[in-house]
Amino acid sequence: MKLNPRKELKLELLDTRRVKGKDGEIHACEGQAFTRHVCSGGLHMNEVFYTRGHVMKMPAKDKQYINHEINCSILCGSFHTNWGHSRKFREWYEYIQRGRYGNHAVDTYLAEFPTKLA
Ligand SMILES: [Zn+2]
Repeated sequence: MKLNPRKELKLELLDTRRVKGKDGEIHACEGQAFTRHVCSGGLHMNEVFYTRGHVMKMPAKDKQYINHEINCSILCGSFHTNWGHSRKFREWYEYIQRGRYGNHAVDTYLAEFPTKLA
């Protein structure tokens, strides 16, 4: 079975992302490392820096840009609703991603966003 790139990435991140929460336990929801909360509502892959809104009017190939490991976090539904859209979370997540992937990779990803509309 061939999964689309987004589903593939989600499965990969579900498999590989584990964070130490504020409670000292290991969690699949990355929000546990940001703030203590009760996870609920399932685990989802969410875009952090560039969202669907940013690529809505772009050609199909550019739409894929948001499906990138630097841009995507694994969060529970509850965390995403309460903190996922806050600037504080985005800033924190950028710091986390710089630690994981290095400044160069994060800077390159953020800078190369396809802005030219077809
Ligand atoms: Zn959670």
